[in-house]
Amino acid sequence: VASRLLADETALSVVDESGAVLANVPRLGTKVSSRLGALQRRVIFPGQGIFETGDNDAIDALLHGHSGWLHRIEASWPAIIASLLGAAAAAAWFFFYGAPMTAAALARATPPQLARFMTTEALSTLDGRVLHPTKLSQIQRQHFLSRFAAMAEPHKAYRLLLRDAPLIGPNAFALPDGRIVLTDQLAAMVRSDAEIDGVFAHEMAHVDRVHVLQRVYQTSLVPAAIAFVTGDATQVSHFASILPGILLQSAYSRQFEQEADDDAAATLRRHGEDPGKLADLLERMTQALCHSQDCEPGWLGGHPPTSVRATRLRGAKAR
Ligand SMILES: [Zn+2]
Repeated sequence: VASRLLADETALSVVDESGAVLANVPRLGTKVSSRLGALQRRVIFPGQGIFETGDNDAIDALLHGHSGWLHRIEASWPAIIASLLGAAAAAAWFFFYGAPMTAAALARATPPQLARFMTTEALSTLDGRVLHPTKLSQIQRQHFLSRFAAMAEPHKAYRLLLRDAPLIGPNAFALPDGRIVLTDQLAAMVRSDAEIDGVFAHEMAHVDRVHVLQRVYQTSLVPAAIAFVTGDATQVSHFASILPGILLQSAYSRQFEQEADDDAAATLRRHGEDPGKLADLLERMTQALCHSQDCEPGWLGGHPPTSVRATRLRGAKAR
């Protein structure tokens, strides 16, 4: 039997073709099945009666005041999923691109006095704990200092710090203001001038490309943003406090390490030296520290593995 559903503020009624009322029920307690494609909609009355129709738009219009908010949420589930996916994509974008871009912009905008302050604070944490006065002879010191000066561009404010570091072992690392630490343990492994020149060029590249500051800001982007937006100087001590940990971890991203290696290779070629020598030293360091061709993630074993870096450096010789 063809019938029609009518609604007023409080009640629903079903009438037949002649207009006779077949049923009259309060709207409260009436349920309507969800809209799903072209499926028949069911209006379920409190007394188990059911009205079925294929006219979805009419049902939605008729019952708008009845189940409007619920229906709107149900109807917008594709929109909800889309907005969740959108939020996830935005978060992923920020993690992979936005945060590094922000960190890079902050690093380049960091005033020299701030970089110097952070460096001094970090060194005061490390000195006496993991870094100790060098045990190199006066002649050795002079030799490394003069190699270092030869690799440095004249107008750049790099400074070489020689330190005994039995806990750290063979390593060199750059600090934000251009100070570069070379451990006695690495100095002892160096077999040629080209090798140590390569180390210096590599660390100078990390300074030039503000890699350390970028890592500091990536690690603490929120405090960094607060500091730059509010000019709150107390946040600076936060960066200074995480810097030693970052230096000891010594794990740069694959991109940073590759950039520093490529820059070092270019510098070495300019000096008429073979970038492959730096590869030799890296391999020797890795062998000494990890007793294999590549280290586990950590020390030298961040990204990229030594074997990958060595191959690239040796390739740079020909380029
Ligand atoms: Zn490096």
